[in-house]
Amino acid sequence: MKLSDKAEEILEALWIAVEEEGKGFAEIDQLGIPAGDPAYQELASRTLIEVKEGRVYFRPEGREEGRRTIRRHRLAERLLMDVLNVRGEAGDDKACQFEHLLNEGVDAKVCTMLNHPTTCPHGKHIPPGDCCEEARRSGDLGVVPLTELKSGEEGEIAYIQTEDSKKMQKLMAMGVLPGNRIVLSQTFPSYIFRVGFSEFAIDSAMAREIFVRK
Ligand SMILES: [Zn+2]
Ligand SMILES: [Zn+2]
Repeated sequence: MKLSDKAEEILEALWIAVEEEGKGFAEIDQLGIPAGDPAYQELASRTLIEVKEGRVYFRPEGREEGRRTIRRHRLAERLLMDVLNVRGEAGDDKACQFEHLLNEGVDAKVCTMLNHPTTCPHGKHIPPGDCCEEARRSGDLGVVPLTELKSGEEGEIAYIQTEDSKKMQKLMAMGVLPGNRIVLSQTFPSYIFRVGFSEFAIDSAMAREIFVRK
């Protein structure tokens, strides 16, 4: 379902009021979008919400859509903070823009890359998706640090997480880039791995910053 950004924000605020604060409805002036905004009409015409006497209620499909929207928002927060290292207000701002890009299918990919997180960086619950149930059933670990691999195991590099740009450059020069295969051949006293035809040795601190998909 393609909704306007404002309509999605209304659904999120309403979901928090109803599902997390246990209210049956939200007052229209507590939703962050002024009454009279066309986004309310947009949601009402799709039978997602009902507006009565200044109060906004969920219709069943709206509740489900709200759940998916809040899930995307909190996954976007995790993605920005954990992977892209964007924090503070800049992160909150960008999460709001980013979530609208995580539509059907993309949210499952992001969720899988982040190992199906259950909370956002603010400690709020992320409603699980089908991918989370599936991963739990199959015992799939998703993306793990290189240090979780045993010697002889291999995986595909998912991303590098480091705040040190020198380290990042060093790793990239080794061919440690998203999408490349990496084979771990030794874990002690240092981590020795192969990417392509080259072999490298790094310490465990650096190995923890390389995330791979088994
Ligand atoms: Zn949050
Ligand atoms: Zn998931």
